[in-house]
Amino acid sequence: MKKYLMSMLLFVIFEIVAVSLWISMDNLFYLFNFTYIGGCIAIGFALFANGKKYARCLVQFAVGSYMLIYLGLICQENMQIEGFWYYLFLGVFEAATIHYAVAKIFGPLIFGRGWCGYACWTAMILDVLPYKKPKESRKKLEFIRHIIFVLALVLVSVLFIIKVTNLEKIMFWLFIGGNLLYYVIGIILAFIFKDNRAFCKYVCPITVFLKPMSYYSILRVHCNEDKCIHCGKCLKVCPMNVEVNKESRSRKNGTECVLCYECTKECPVKALH
Ligand code: SF4
Ligand code: SF4
Ligand code: SF4
Repeated sequence: MKKYLMSMLLFVIFEIVAVSLWISMDNLFYLFNFTYIGGCIAIGFALFANGKKYARCLVQFAVGSYMLIYLGLICQENMQIEGFWYYLFLGVFEAATIHYAVAKIFGPLIFGRGWCGYACWTAMILDVLPYKKPKESRKKLEFIRHIIFVLALVLVSVLFIIKVTNLEKIMFWLFIGGNLLYYVIGIILAFIFKDNRAFCKYVCPITVFLKPMSYYSILRVHCNEDKCIHCGKCLKVCPMNVEVNKESRSRKNGTECVLCYECTKECPVKALH
C-alpha cells in the first residue's frame, strides 16, 4: 500500500477542494470537475508507482483534453492567462480564477509544477515531439515570458477600459487564437532548439505564477548527495535542465521541475526519490 500513498493523498486533496467548492458555491459542477481531475492524477500516480511508462502521458491527455475541449471549447471558459485577468477584473471567483488559484497559484505549494507535468494541454502536444531530452543547452531567453505576461495583462486591461462590446465572445476567440498561436510557436521552438519544452522555458507566461510558489513545494524530487556518484545521467535526461543532483531548493532551475520523474528512473544508485 505504501507505494500508493501519494496517489491516495492527492485524490483526497482534490476531493477536499471538490466538496468545499461544491458546498460553498452551491454548484455540482465543482464536485464533478475536481473529482475527475483528482481521479485522473491519482490513477496516473498509481500506474507510475507500478512502473507503467505511459502513466504521465495518459494523465496529461485525460486532464489536458478535458480542459481544452470540454471547459474551453464547449463551456467557452477562457482558461488562458487572459481569461484569468478577465474574470478577476469582473470580480468573479469561478472558472478561470478558481482554476488558477488551485492549479497555478496556491496548489504549487503542495504539488509544485505538477500542472506542467500532468495537466497542461499545451505540453500534452509538445511532449510527443521528438526532443524529450533537450539536445542543446538552455538559452537565456526567460525574459520573453515576462513580456508575454505583461502584454496579456495590458490587452485585457485595455479591453476593459475602452468598454468593448461582446467582451465575453472576444475572450472566447482569444482563447482559440491564443491556443493555436501557443501550439504553433511551441512546435517551431521545439524544432529550432531541439527541445520539446523550449516554449515552457522561454515563452509561457504562466510560469510567472508557477515558479515562486513551487520553490516551497512539499512534493519535490529529493537527492541523497551522499549516494550520488556524479554520473550526470539525471542531468542529461531532465527535460527542464534542473540541477537535480543537488538537494538544495535553490538548485539551478529548481522551480522548473515538472515532476516527470525521468531522472529517478535513470539514477543507477537510487540517489533520487
Ligand atoms: S510552462 Fe506553460 S506551457 Fe509549459 S507545461 Fe507549464 S503551463 Fe503548460
Ligand atoms: S527529470 Fe527530474 S528534475 Fe527534471 S523535471 Fe523531471 S522530475 Fe524534475
Ligand atoms: S543519476 Fe544519480 S548518481 Fe548520477 S548524477 Fe544523478 S543523482 Fe548522481
